[in-house]
Amino acid sequence: MPSKNLVQELEQTIENIADFPIPGIQFKDITPIFLKPALYESVIDEFVQFSKGKVDAVCGIESRGYLFGIAIAVALEVPFILIRKKGKLPPPFVSEKYELEYGFSEIEMREGQIKAGQRVLIHDDLLATGGTTEAAARLVEKQGAKASQFSFLIGLKDLHGEDKLRKFNAEVFRILEY
Ligand code: AMP
Repeated sequence: MPSKNLVQELEQTIENIADFPIPGIQFKDITPIFLKPALYESVIDEFVQFSKGKVDAVCGIESRGYLFGIAIAVALEVPFILIRKKGKLPPPFVSEKYELEYGFSEIEMREGQIKAGQRVLIHDDLLATGGTTEAAARLVEKQGAKASQFSFLIGLKDLHGEDKLRKFNAEVFRILEY
């Protein structure tokens, strides 16, 4: 459980921008966290405590999932693997398609970076509808590894992203909920 002080400081630091990038969206800008190194360190500590001894690799989702993901993996002394949007990685790579509100999207990962049997933490900055995270977990599991944990800085309650993750029987952690 994150301390009340940490949650409070994060709430005061993260900026809410109404109607960005389109009307109706409450955009959470996490960039002010990176102006406060001590706060950043406390966030990493929180994520590390959640995953310590429980995962063999960390996957971060492009691009804000890299901001905390690499630091978490280094602290846990496990590999960090980038999950990228389509078209950014050289071959060989493995990919997974997923449905958006309109149309499809695709994510990719270098082939061979995940090993069969590994317990994997999938990390992103924010859990919204859960579509991207669910596809990331499928990408991990089709390579014989297990999506055993999910962590996010922020979860948006009203979008019920967690429903999409339930089938993986994994632990889910968010530091903040809106
Ligand atoms: P989803 O697949 O719907 O769970 O979308 C998650 C991704 O979209 C995350 O990587 C976030 O960075 C981004 N995102 C979605 N909604 C917001 C929001 N309200 N504020 C900031 N980022 C968002």
